[in-house]
Amino acid sequence: MDACDLLVVGAGPAGCAAAVAARRAAPGLDVRVVDAARFPREKPCGGALTGGAQRELALAGLELRVRHAVVTHALLRVEGLARRVELPRPAAVVRRIELDHDLVLQARAAGARVDEEAPLLALEPGLARTGAGPLRFRAAVAADGVGGPSRRALGLGPGRRAPLRETQLEAAGQGDLLFDLDAAGAGYAWRFPCFVEGRPAESCGVYALAGGAALTGALREFARREGVLPAAPATPSALRLFEPGGPVGAGAALLAGDALGADPLAGEGLRYALWSGRIAGALAARALARGGAPSLRAYRARLAGSRSGLLLQLTARLAPRLYAGQGRWRRAAADPRVAEALAALVSGAAPAGPLLALTVRLAAGAPALVSRSGPA
Ligand SMILES: Cc1cc2nc3c(=O)[nH]c(=O)nc-3n(C[C@H](O)[C@H](O)[C@H](O)COP(=O)(O)OP(=O)(O)OC[C@H]3O[C@@H](n4cnc5c(N)ncnc54)[C@H](O)[C@@H]3O)c2cc1C
Repeated sequence: MDACDLLVVGAGPAGCAAAVAARRAAPGLDVRVVDAARFPREKPCGGALTGGAQRELALAGLELRVRHAVVTHALLRVEGLARRVELPRPAAVVRRIELDHDLVLQARAAGARVDEEAPLLALEPGLARTGAGPLRFRAAVAADGVGGPSRRALGLGPGRRAPLRETQLEAAGQGDLLFDLDAAGAGYAWRFPCFVEGRPAESCGVYALAGGAALTGALREFARREGVLPAAPATPSALRLFEPGGPVGAGAALLAGDALGADPLAGEGLRYALWSGRIAGALAARALARGGAPSLRAYRARLAGSRSGLLLQLTARLAPRLYAGQGRWRRAAADPRVAEALAALVSGAAPAGPLLALTVRLAAGAPALVSRSGPA
C-alpha cells in the first residue's frame, strides 16, 4: 500500500505552508499533500495579504510571486466617520486562483509531492482513504479548509462559521483597503483594489458573524450606495472562526488554516493559514524525525506563544463586542488611535500598544487561548 511520513490534507495556503515547513525542518521526510481540486482552482476570497500575512508567508519559506495590487492605506468607516490611516507595511491584494497555484508549485519545488484530484474520503489512525487510493501515514496536518471532511473524520466538532459574500467590480474606483462597518445588514463591507486577468479591478464583499441569508441583499445595497457595479452575482461562502480553547487536532493529526479557524474580527484567514500551517508542519516533521508523533499540547503552546497567535486571541475577544451592536466598542473603533493601532496590527508591525491595552482592560474575563478544558 502507498505510504508517506507526513500527510497534508489540502493544498491551500495552510497545506502548502505545512508542506514547505516540514521539508525545511526535516529535509529527508516523505511529505504528501492531497487535494480534491485540480490547480489552478478558484477560491472565494478578498485576496488581501496584509503585512502580517506577508511576514507569515516569508516565515513559512514561501514567496509572493504572482501579480498583486499594492495598497498603502486603510479606510475605516464607522459611526458615520471615515478614518484613513497609513499601513506601516503595505498590503498586497492577490487573486487566489493565481496565488494558490503558485504556492503548490513552491511546495513541489521544496520536495513535497502534491496529488491533485485526490480527495480525502475517510481518515483512520495512520490510514487515509482518498479518491486516488488508500495511503498510510505517520502524522497528518488537516488543512482542508472550511468545507473539508477532516474535522468530522477526526471526531471534532464543526466549530462556528461566519458567512461572507464576495464579488468583483469590473473597474478600480478607489485604491485603499476600505472597511465599512456602517454597511446595513453586515458586520462590515469591503472594497479592495486588485488585478483580474491583468486589468485593475476591485474585490467587493460583506462579512458578518452570523445571518448569511441577509448578506446577499446587504452586498447589493452596499454596491448601490457606493455606485459600483458587481461583475457577477456573489456566491455564498464562509470561513471557520477561531475559538480560543477549541480543538487543535486529534491523535497524530494537527488542524491548520480554516480547519483550525480564522480571525473573527476582520475575517482575515490567509495570515493564520500560513501561520498555523507552518507551525504544524515544522512541529510534526521534527517529531517524526525523532521517531515520535506530534504532541497536541506542544502544538497548542506553540500557537499560543507566537505573535500571530496572540493577535488571534485578541481579535477573537474583540469581534463579538464590536459586532453585537455594543455602542461603546463601535465608538472605540471610531477613535483615530484605535484605527492606527488596527493598521499596525494587520501590518504585523509591533507593538500595537493602544489597541492591546484597550482590549485587555475591556475584555477581562474572556477565555484564554491555552485552556485546560480543550484537548491537550
Ligand atoms: C469571501 C471570502 C473572502 C475572504 N477574504 C479574505 C481576505 O481578503 N484576506 C484574508 O486573509 N482572508 C480572507 N478570507 C479567508 C481565507 O480565504 C481563508 O482563511 C483561507 O483560504 C484559508 O486557507 P486554507 O489553506 O486553510 O484553506 P483553503 O484555502 O480553503 O484550502 C483548502 C484546500 O483543501 C482542499 N480540500 C477540500 N476538501 C478536501 C478533501 N476532501 N480532500 C482533499 N482536499 C480537500 C480544497 O480543494 C482546498 O484547496 C476570505 C474568505 C472568504 C470566504
